[in-house]
Amino acid sequence: MAEVSLFKSILTCKCPKCRKGRVFTHKNPYHRKFGKIEKKCSVCNFIYEMEQGFWYGAMYFSYAFGVLISIPVVVILLLKTNLEIFQITGVIFCILFALSPLLFRYSRSVWLHIFVWYDKDLVNKIGD
Ligand SMILES: [Zn+2]
Repeated sequence: MAEVSLFKSILTCKCPKCRKGRVFTHKNPYHRKFGKIEKKCSVCNFIYEMEQGFWYGAMYFSYAFGVLISIPVVVILLLKTNLEIFQITGVIFCILFALSPLLFRYSRSVWLHIFVWYDKDLVNKIGD
């Protein structure tokens, strides 16, 4: 099997070490338990929560993604509509609320991929 790229691994929320096992228990990001994370990788047995409070840092990325989404929306709404700033705030709130499961997942996926790198030798040992 071909090697999974870092980008695809983050986007599909795979284990950063083997890029095969799933991080989240449910595939659908809008499932009721969208944030539930597996204890360890089903393929390489890597334990995802390496230390207590490990996931707190992912909030920085969640915030950054929120800002990256909000800025273009604000600019477009200010230029193309006559909405008041509090109405724009409402629109932003609705968009971020709707996207919150995705922001939650991708921020954790990025966070995990920063600290744990792909282990090619391990993947070769496990096989396809
Ligand atoms: Zn793994």
